[in-house]
Amino acid sequence: MKTADYISMEDQFGAHNYHPLDVVIDRAEGVWVWDVDGRKYLDMLAAYSAVNQGHCHPRLVNTMREQLPRLTLTSRAFRNDKLGGFYKYVTELTGFDKFLPMNTGAEAVETAIKAARKWAYTVKGTPSGHAKILVFDNNFHGRTTTIVGFSTDDQYKEGFGPFTPGFDVVPFGDAEAASRAFEADPHIAAVLIEPIQGEGGILIPPDGFLGHLRELCNKHQALLICDEIQSGLGRTGKLFAYEHDGIRPDIVIVGKALSGGFYPVSGILADDPVMGVFRPGDHGSTYGGNPVAAVIATEALSILVDEKLVEHSAELGTYATERLQALVTESKYVREVRGRGLWIGIELHHDAGGARRFCEALQHLGVLCKETHDHIIRVAPPLTISREDLDWGLGHLESVLTRDWEAEEAPAEAEAVAVG
Ligand code: PLP
Repeated sequence: MKTADYISMEDQFGAHNYHPLDVVIDRAEGVWVWDVDGRKYLDMLAAYSAVNQGHCHPRLVNTMREQLPRLTLTSRAFRNDKLGGFYKYVTELTGFDKFLPMNTGAEAVETAIKAARKWAYTVKGTPSGHAKILVFDNNFHGRTTTIVGFSTDDQYKEGFGPFTPGFDVVPFGDAEAASRAFEADPHIAAVLIEPIQGEGGILIPPDGFLGHLRELCNKHQALLICDEIQSGLGRTGKLFAYEHDGIRPDIVIVGKALSGGFYPVSGILADDPVMGVFRPGDHGSTYGGNPVAAVIATEALSILVDEKLVEHSAELGTYATERLQALVTESKYVREVRGRGLWIGIELHHDAGGARRFCEALQHLGVLCKETHDHIIRVAPPLTISREDLDWGLGHLESVLTRDWEAEEAPAEAEAVAVG
């Protein structure tokens, strides 16, 4: 079968809830992937940061090989010999008292919401049913009905209501608006924020914004929850993106790279006064904390540490962002380049014809990037990328964004008309 055959089978038998680039990958190693027709590509997306450790990391392959024939699932009805070691490692690494494991990112966000609400009722003394969570416009926290209910993107919600009440939305980065929301409602239990909005287009809030939220939460007895599912685990050049702001949240939500791309693992980190609200039966998931997840997550984290991937992301990220920022003057299509670590958003002018066509052009040159919203190209390679491979990818980004597409496309169109 060739690329077109795989695509038509997917289209015929699968739901059309994604719009992927038409590349069918069947093999990967490190930062490189190969398609079914044998073409090789540099992965500059890293499965939206789930593959920070690089594809098919040999240590994770070995971990899987050792664990799979031994024990895969007990459910939480019984204990397994791997979970405790993972808890110990992840809490010591991050400095929180406890971890609660789930599987996907959205489930971990739901877990944080439940923790915050129960904390409000049992610790803060919020009257039953009144707990409120402050969120931000342009947020992306996943796809459950509760979560899309407080999205500000119409497409994410249209047709999926009615939605869960209890969320207030304020503009991202607007400190005054956040203060006003707290003044207006004494029952705000928590603030839920992506320290840098990923799906939103690598949007970095103004300096001091997270610090301001921390102060508001302290003053009004509320929890600060950072969703680090995409921004965490080295992506921004720190273990967690909130570290850039010198703050410590009450709950950290993790997912994606906790799995090294092998097996869905997510969860929340918190200290005892928050995690202590959960009693047996309050929350859970059949696969949450299973032994495969536990060994994979432990190994995925230790790879970040042993290979100094956080530091590497900081160093190469600064280099790549500064280099791409030259495109603002050198390319007529580029409006802004922003980033932290190896996480860069290239925002195009709205008359540039959309980010998708540039991603398709890059695909033909052997570089895989993906647009977010219509006008932003997201660059997020595995953190294992070498300077040499990064240079190769950046060179193609520069060439695609500095070509004069209109001048090149015009003759082709003219020819097509003539032939027709
Ligand atoms: N939160 C953030 C910040 C994300 O970027 C994502 C996914 O992109 C999610 C939550 C949802 O994660 P999942 O797709 O694993 O449910």
